[in-house]
Amino acid sequence: MHVMILGAGVVGVTSAWYLARAGHQVTVVDRQAEPAQETSYANAGQISPGYSAPWAAPGVPFKAIKWLLQDLAPLAIDVRHWDRHTLSWMTRMLLNCNERSYHINKGRMMRLAEYSRDCLKAARNELGLDYEQRTGGTLQLFRQHSQMAASEKDIAVLRECGVEHQLLDVDDCVNYEPGLAHSRDKLVGGLRLPGDETGDCQAFTRQLAEHCRELGVEFRMNTAVQGLMCQQHRIDGVITNQGNLKADAYLMAMGSFSAPMLRQINLDLPIHPIKGYSLTVPITDAERAPQSTLMDETYKVAITRFNDRIRVGGTAEIAGYQLNLPEKRRANIEFVVNDLFPGAGNTAKAEFWTGLRPMTPDGTPIIGATDIDNLFLNTGHGTLGWTMSMGSAKVIADLISQRQTDIDAADLSLSRYQKRSQHVPKKHYSY
Ligand SMILES: Cc1cc2nc3c(=O)[nH]c(=O)nc-3n(C[C@H](O)[C@H](O)[C@H](O)COP(=O)(O)OP(=O)(O)OC[C@H]3O[C@@H](n4cnc5c(N)ncnc54)[C@H](O)[C@@H]3O)c2cc1C
Repeated sequence: MHVMILGAGVVGVTSAWYLARAGHQVTVVDRQAEPAQETSYANAGQISPGYSAPWAAPGVPFKAIKWLLQDLAPLAIDVRHWDRHTLSWMTRMLLNCNERSYHINKGRMMRLAEYSRDCLKAARNELGLDYEQRTGGTLQLFRQHSQMAASEKDIAVLRECGVEHQLLDVDDCVNYEPGLAHSRDKLVGGLRLPGDETGDCQAFTRQLAEHCRELGVEFRMNTAVQGLMCQQHRIDGVITNQGNLKADAYLMAMGSFSAPMLRQINLDLPIHPIKGYSLTVPITDAERAPQSTLMDETYKVAITRFNDRIRVGGTAEIAGYQLNLPEKRRANIEFVVNDLFPGAGNTAKAEFWTGLRPMTPDGTPIIGATDIDNLFLNTGHGTLGWTMSMGSAKVIADLISQRQTDIDAADLSLSRYQKRSQHVPKKHYSY
């Protein structure tokens, strides 16, 4: 079967790899010149199954108000860019902010993320991938005793899912991350997830794309998708700025842009862009730098060690699809790396970047078939899209190939949002 994948981010490229290995003819279409140029370009570098959790959690609506008022706020909103889709997404997210939904959603994300990490390890060993990876785990840092107490709930889920974890005092945190010796008086403890990994998502995606090419995958880059030709529950082709393209089946993997594209054919995906920022800081003193990934629970900022760089990522901004880079946001994440690892890097020479997390209201991506016979989805990977990418890709490749999936995938599809309404596809040919 000829499968056309729309989007060459980490999700599209991992899907291409598994689909090509399953024997399909695969074409990947993307508007950029290279894979991983948008949200997969400079994320925080965590492969963190243990940290996989939905942002929609009990108490979050109240915490959100506190965060908005906080200095160096981890959350920001810009209502000038809001529309009815923003409001609908927010409502759905708020409906997930209860104990029962959190438990279901976290369990589902962890199932996918753990599987995904195992798929990643297998591919890395098989292909000899090198993307500045480290296997030193994640250390969640607490600056307040109340944060440490609140982590009990997450620890209960970790226990239930059999995920290795260690609750650490400050001395232990410094043992694992000696660079914290210079900021130990700011900390009260940490939660370490030794099974987590780190690395450069862009390097990973580009290398995997090369392996895809060796398997015969065609990459049609610089090709912007403008619409889908949909008739009688089938996609007939894709309209692009390079002409119309056809295949037997189509896989939507355009991240945050999946939702507006599919809205044109009346398919409602509850995916909204949540903007985040990162700084990539050249290391000036390796002894003062982090060894693996740390997550500052107070500012919701992740700090990851690459070979000779530190990647710092964070902030959730609900501000539509715009990609501007305000200095104020830079200052937020710059503060955290300088506060925890003073003198480790030269932030004046850092690369400042922004990306749009494709977020679903329940935190889990949308993977599976649709009511349109030959249209499949692998999108909505939100905060931990790289972490979940390999498992998601293997699941969708198995579903498209009509094979049994290795993990339960029934609750990953769009149908979990479609209980009450059935989709009626709209005929759509051109503009
Ligand atoms: C600040 C920040 C930190 C993060 N940290 C982490 C982390 O530590 N660990 C982790 O696992 N995840 C992290 N994430 C999330 C992760 O980066 C994303 O979930 C993931 O990159 C999404 O991948 P994707 O392939 O779905 O989307 P993208 O990478 O955005 O790929 C979508 C592709 O579709 C293409 N496209 C879009 N529209 C069109 C069109 N009309 N025509 C043709 N092509 C089109 C784009 O060019 C792009 O290449 C972070 C995100 C941010 C913003």
